[in-house]
Amino acid sequence: MKVLKFGGTSVGSVENMNHVKSIINDGSKKIVVLSAMSGTTNALVSIASEIEKNNINQAESEIDKLYKKYVDVVDNLLTDKYLNVGVMAYVNERFNFLLRCLEKPFSLTLENEVLAQGELLSTYMFNAYLQQEGINSQLLAALDFMKINEVKEPDFKYIQEHLNEVLNSTPGADIYITQGFICLDDAGKVSNLQRGGSDYTATIVGAVIKAEEVQIWTDIDGMHNNDPRFVEGTQPISDLSFDEAAELAYFGAKILHPQTVLPVREDGIPVRLKNTMNPPAPGTLISSNHVENGIKAIAAKDNITAIKIKSGRMLQAHGFLRKVFEIFEVHETSIDMITTSEVAVSLTIDDDKNLDKIVSELEAIATIEVDKNQSIVCLVGHSIVNHEDTFKLFQILKDVKIRMISYGGSRNNISLLIDTKDKVETLQKLNAYLFELVTL
Ligand code: ADP
Ligand code: ASP
Ligand code: MG
Repeated sequence: MKVLKFGGTSVGSVENMNHVKSIINDGSKKIVVLSAMSGTTNALVSIASEIEKNNINQAESEIDKLYKKYVDVVDNLLTDKYLNVGVMAYVNERFNFLLRCLEKPFSLTLENEVLAQGELLSTYMFNAYLQQEGINSQLLAALDFMKINEVKEPDFKYIQEHLNEVLNSTPGADIYITQGFICLDDAGKVSNLQRGGSDYTATIVGAVIKAEEVQIWTDIDGMHNNDPRFVEGTQPISDLSFDEAAELAYFGAKILHPQTVLPVREDGIPVRLKNTMNPPAPGTLISSNHVENGIKAIAAKDNITAIKIKSGRMLQAHGFLRKVFEIFEVHETSIDMITTSEVAVSLTIDDDKNLDKIVSELEAIATIEVDKNQSIVCLVGHSIVNHEDTFKLFQILKDVKIRMISYGGSRNNISLLIDTKDKVETLQKLNAYLFELVTL
């Protein structure tokens, strides 16, 4: 069985839902994971934030605006009177839930429950639409099987047991529809897999059912060799290895949630990235194969904080790095890049929630400098550390201030840390000289 995931734009209008229907209706049994309609999760984030700030009138007017959009979609999508009435009743139920949240005290669980409404709505509507079109589909509640553990990792054993139970109880369906993104936490409360998490749902489901393939359908024809939001003329990449895709996703290629490939890498389940708006385009195949050497793609990750830890006695003082790492471990903050010299260690983090505590503990053992608003630019490809293009990097970027470089940590990745204000120019220059063959 295949798992197909469709993102926000793919289910973002009646017209696009019709494209999705044509793609999935090919007679083969499959699990379809859906995101919320585009714009909905952002709207829900804003509603939750207004509730947190106690701006109840503002939250109410945003709920009202979103409700009107859904009434409109349901009316256009469901021409069958009976299904239309049933879906409208469900939509009313979800929006009444949101209105009731206005009277509750804010909490993280409340926020997660608010965020969950987008996927609940899109899947219910889409499942009814498939029934209207005579397709034998079955809605599966993700909260019946998707669960994360106390360290917020998927609880694969639980998911496998519960998903199999749910699938076995409805063996007759051709197409199973379920919500991406949402899950239960270890305490059984509503939670999620972080923004963009529907991709991750798809590969988790793919891993537990040992799917033949996972397909991620979005609004672009696969992984491009650079960020199309900032660089013109980017090109789709036909093949990526799991390692290459994992690096790109982790270091900012928004097309994939950072953890997407991890669940399927071990079993070698291929992941295909496809364009809902252009199904014949080949897209990108992510698999165990390493197809070619050289720099294949560039991605960038913002909101990075660089921390320089200076200690005159670092080399003599063995155990110094252990002390440094322990501080980050205690504050549950992971380190992305690290470079060392005789007198200093520089490292980066992307989660600065505990930065003040980390800095104050580091100050007990060293002198600390913190730089915010940094970006990691990551170059990815098989064996790029030995590739001739890699040696051009300093020349291409001679006018860009590079704050740190990570080379050799893996054969597939070189990362540069730069000021975020230089990011777009850096991505564009790299594109021109590495991919568009502009000569230096
Ligand atoms: P979905 O809602 O389908 O999950 P996303 O918006 O999360 O879609 O991801 C698709 C978007 O990712 C594209 O429209 C594109 O702007 C952006 N993107 C960023 N980097 C890349 C890249 N390297 N290749 C392709 N798309 C990228
Ligand atoms: N709807 C969620 C989000 O916007 C999950 C997803 O789209 O993948 O982040
Ligand atoms: Mg996405």
